[in-house]
Amino acid sequence: SNISIAIDGPAGAGKSTIAKIIAKVKKLTYIDTGAMYRAVTLKCIQEQVDLQDHRQVEAVLMDTKIELIGDSIFLNGTNVSEEIRRSEVNKWVSEVAKLSAVRKKMVEMQRAIADSQSVVMDGRDIGTFVLPHAAYKFFLTASIEERAKRRFEEQQQKGFSTSLAEVKSEIENRDRIDTERDLAPLTQARDAILIDTTGLSIEEVVDKILSYIQ
Ligand code: C5P
Repeated sequence: SNISIAIDGPAGAGKSTIAKIIAKVKKLTYIDTGAMYRAVTLKCIQEQVDLQDHRQVEAVLMDTKIELIGDSIFLNGTNVSEEIRRSEVNKWVSEVAKLSAVRKKMVEMQRAIADSQSVVMDGRDIGTFVLPHAAYKFFLTASIEERAKRRFEEQQQKGFSTSLAEVKSEIENRDRIDTERDLAPLTQARDAILIDTTGLSIEEVVDKILSYIQ
């Protein structure tokens, strides 16, 4: 039957980089749940939704179809993989991800995906809420300086002009909202293995994780 590997942690801890490699090595499907929340956020921005208005949010969700195909994410048939990384989405995603109607729809989708295949799923609440019976759970962290630096370098490579200070405050802001929200907040599952990736290379983190799952 299907097995799941849950990888949670704050922004910029290296979750997606590591999860992708683990998925490839173990021949599992990689599921980026953050991308799903980002796609809904993009839709809310496009439709200029008032996030306080539950009916507007519900209406937008009814009109939101998300598909994960390979490493790409499609919103109502359009590939939005690049667009969902824009700073406007960074700015709003944690506010959108707080909403119960949004989380309900995303979690249903995520559980359905994990029911039909073996997955490496990364996010904030995978080990605690989405897949509480995951075979393996990891919680990745790193110092805020290191996480900001990694995100900054990523954004520079993509040609974005955000400064290191801006990246740092953007991820601190998201971590705070994600940790303080009522529904499935960002927290380490009791049975998750904590890995502090500060000062570790990608290969070292991958090897550490593989040492637990092999
Ligand atoms: O993983 P990423 O940084 O792309 O996630 C973007 C945002 O989506 C997070 O800051 C959080 O607000 C939300 N999120 C969530 N639950 C998840 C994954 C992401 O609330 N499982």
